[in-house]
Amino acid sequence: MPRYEFRCHECTTTFEVDRPMAAASDPADCPHGHSDTVKLLSTVSLGGRAGGAPAMAPSGGGGGGCCGGACGCG
Ligand SMILES: [Zn+2]
Repeated sequence: MPRYEFRCHECTTTFEVDRPMAAASDPADCPHGHSDTVKLLSTVSLGGRAGGAPAMAPSGGGGGGCCGGACGCG
């Protein structure tokens, strides 16, 4: 399920919400109970790398990285 990032205007908290894409544009409540939130640019990873995100380097590795073409498996 894709993950969307929201920001609360009232307390400036940023939080993430897992929800189906059909509900991507629905409003989300702040974890502190506020409803004045805005959806940020989604950093959704649905498999496959989007590229061009050096700040979002993978942490801890995640398996399945072998078949990226470097090792020639398959
Ligand atoms: Zn809030």
